[in-house]
Amino acid sequence: MSILVCGGAGYIGSHMVAHLLENNKDVVVLDNLQKGHKEALLGGKFYLGDLNDSEILDKVFSENSIEAVIDFAAYSLVGESMIDPLKYFQNNVGSTINLLKTMNKHKVKNIVFSSTAATYGEPEAVPINENDRTFPTNPYGESKLTVEKILKWCDLAYGIKYTALRYFNAAGAHISGKIGEDHNPESHLIPIILQVALGKREKIMIFGNDYPTKDGTCIRDYVHVSDLASAHLLALERLKKTGKSKIYNLGNGTGFSVKEVVDVAKKVTGVDIKVEKAPRRQGDPAILIASSLKAMEELNWNPKYNSLETIIDTAWRWHKNHKNGYSK
Ligand code: UDP
Repeated sequence: MSILVCGGAGYIGSHMVAHLLENNKDVVVLDNLQKGHKEALLGGKFYLGDLNDSEILDKVFSENSIEAVIDFAAYSLVGESMIDPLKYFQNNVGSTINLLKTMNKHKVKNIVFSSTAATYGEPEAVPINENDRTFPTNPYGESKLTVEKILKWCDLAYGIKYTALRYFNAAGAHISGKIGEDHNPESHLIPIILQVALGKREKIMIFGNDYPTKDGTCIRDYVHVSDLASAHLLALERLKKTGKSKIYNLGNGTGFSVKEVVDVAKKVTGVDIKVEKAPRRQGDPAILIASSLKAMEELNWNPKYNSLETIIDTAWRWHKNHKNGYSK
């Protein structure tokens, strides 16, 4: 029996594949390589294709004995989603509907879905609990929340059981140094800071310094990508055992402002990183910090790389050795 990882060549997906292989699981990957990198795959059986394409999905499910799906395939840029919401709804919602239809057809009943803290929007209180209000401030978060709602009805109607994992800010790179974060163009905070440290960019623009936070910059909860991967496998095991659909937050429970992240990166890299203030980025909530107590208690999730310094250090090791990402 194999686990199908959709979007397995992407940043979080490739760390998931690595984690599954480390745990001796049979892995099948489906990725359209629009954002993902073939080089990021440390193993598994690879299919090139898009979740919007029912034929390739049918082929994957017919040629393999799939016991469960872990779905990472989605667009995930807050800023871009504000400019082109339909792109996000079409891809993130439409493709998941297609995947669920195929799962139902092939009687595959377990899915772990990659959701996001962006489902909450501006939080009522921090740290955020799973039962708190969900009111996304951007189409990216809305598209993920929509899928969570679709999953609820699919559970009821077709008996497809799901775990939705709402991650806070995924960061860092695999401890082996073999895989890491490579987006083109890069828009995420930590890789951009590290590109400045590498001399590939002159400075980092800080989006907004007038938020209601201690230093005026946005506060986020950074969680190591390999810790996210381990949570997915635990979630899948629990899902198979209990047959109960659930939603969990995944974060470290500590918030860092953009300025603080820059300071930690300066310490880790030993480079004086130049910053410049810029207007707020549309759609960004001021503070996102997770309570992950539910995942810790129910999944036995125990993040290994839970200091920001360690997270940035693993990312730095990858970036130093892959100055151009996966391209040679
Ligand atoms: N950010 C920034 N400059 C950048 C990129 C990001 O100030 O060049 C800020 C962004 O506004 C947010 C935080 O850093 O408050 C994390 O952004 P990122 O895009 O890494 O992740 P997101 O929170 O969108 O998932």
